[in-house]
Amino acid sequence: MMQTPLTMTQMMERAEKYFPKKQVVSRTASGIQRFTYKQIAERTRRLADSLSKLGVTKGDRVGTLAWNHHRHLEAYFAIPCMGAVLHTVNIRLSPQHISYIINHAEDKVLLVDPDILPLLESCAAELKTVKAFIIMTDDKELPETILSPVYHYEKLLAEANPDYHYPEDLDENDPAGMCYTSATTGNPKGVVYSHRGIVLHSMALGLADSAAISEKDVALPVVPMFHANAWGMPFSAVWFGTSLVLPGPYFTPKLLAELIEQEKVTVTAGVPTIWLGLLKELDEGSYDLSSLRGVLCGGSAAPKGMIKAFEQRHNIPFMHAYGMTETSPLVVISTLKSYQEELDYEERLELRAKQGTLVPGLEIKILGKDGEVAWDGKEMGELCIKGPWIASEYYKDERTEEAFRDGWLHTGDVVTIDEEGFVKIVDRTKDLIKSGGEWISSVDLENALMAHDSVFEAAVVAVPHEQWQERPFACVVLKEAYKGKTTKEELLEFLTPQFAKWWIPDDILFLDEIPKTSVGKFLKMTLRDQVQKEALRKG
Ligand code: AMP
Repeated sequence: MMQTPLTMTQMMERAEKYFPKKQVVSRTASGIQRFTYKQIAERTRRLADSLSKLGVTKGDRVGTLAWNHHRHLEAYFAIPCMGAVLHTVNIRLSPQHISYIINHAEDKVLLVDPDILPLLESCAAELKTVKAFIIMTDDKELPETILSPVYHYEKLLAEANPDYHYPEDLDENDPAGMCYTSATTGNPKGVVYSHRGIVLHSMALGLADSAAISEKDVALPVVPMFHANAWGMPFSAVWFGTSLVLPGPYFTPKLLAELIEQEKVTVTAGVPTIWLGLLKELDEGSYDLSSLRGVLCGGSAAPKGMIKAFEQRHNIPFMHAYGMTETSPLVVISTLKSYQEELDYEERLELRAKQGTLVPGLEIKILGKDGEVAWDGKEMGELCIKGPWIASEYYKDERTEEAFRDGWLHTGDVVTIDEEGFVKIVDRTKDLIKSGGEWISSVDLENALMAHDSVFEAAVVAVPHEQWQERPFACVVLKEAYKGKTTKEELLEFLTPQFAKWWIPDDILFLDEIPKTSVGKFLKMTLRDQVQKEALRKG
């Protein structure tokens, strides 16, 4: 067979050639804008030309700090197709982590949304490698900023060459994108995606037994484009000529419901927090969302009750899936086998609430204490993954050794697998809390608490939360002299300036001691049970 490179250049070229009339609907600060793929493809070439005029060359990293909109989509293609590397910066990280990852990735140019400027300005003094800032604004003039030099996205595009030619010598193993993911403690870790990985993952999203994304769909990725490439949806959509709806900044459940209704969205993707918000809106309002054929839900476990409510009250089918930043992200998805469709609804729901079966192209194994676990839905082990869209290392990071061993990615997720191969996530060994789809480091919170004069020991655990799936809860042992004196409020106030607001624990429980293992490690499982009881008691 021929060896033709699996590069991303073919994706936008296909959209332009075969689907020039298909639409990208983009919501920005000034409202809804509509573009055809013909226009998007030309604007993408213009952006690549502008970046090359600013000195971006092969292998350079270009960062984005942006919501889901058409300009971000153009960056998604212009940067990799010109041979550079698209670095999507997670704008929910703290300013310290943001400056760390921009410096660590050595971003040469940053593309930024106007409303994210203050965040970037707050860490501008720390940035060591950035040579230019491009502001993705709808306004004619640039906003006031301390950043320099700044460029106006639309003005750059207006002056650029619409016939820019992408280089033809890209290798499929060249880096195309990168994204940082939170570590148990300390700075985030970088994952680099190759052209080949992105192309193969995009194909996997199109398979009939996975998300089945096709030209006939209208796809709305709610999951941010700074999170594992919006789960790869924009890449598949462009390649397949699927209409795209990009919801922009600060959307509400109402706005999402209206967008789905007006644009006749057929498939959408996001974390459970988003769907719980939408469910409430649908229960209270009156919308026609009958166009929806599937809601892809992942990032945290999809609650069974939520899936049922969507399906039975609103006739909206759910697709539960699991993945990680390190896995592009799709790994397993809970589509039923033909003979399982004959089971009654509750049995099917039970299966579909699991994270699902393996997507073709990947391999998994589940390692228990004594080797691989039995496929009995009971024995637990750590999920390990390998395959062409699974990262093989963290970018320039010693922590690679912890997760990548013997050719497998060790996920830190504890799972069972049943007789039919359905994987169910039951626990997590990584000491992190996932709140509304974003990570909170319990270790960092513990260290900060233990730096307070009155604190002898502190442990932070996740408690289940209806809206956010998990929230941090702190357990604190005070030093003798401070017992009965230091208050919760004082400790929370102490944490506030050190972390993003949503990291601050919901509550603090004062204990006489923290339960520990024989080697002195916090027994977080026991603590979690204790805290959950306390949270229940308080209602
Ligand atoms: P991230 O890299 O931020 O996308 O987070 C990946 C992690 O989120 C996984 O390792 C799991 O711990 C968790 N996760 C992702 N999808 C699911 C899911 N469907 N159910 C439960 N946990 C999930």
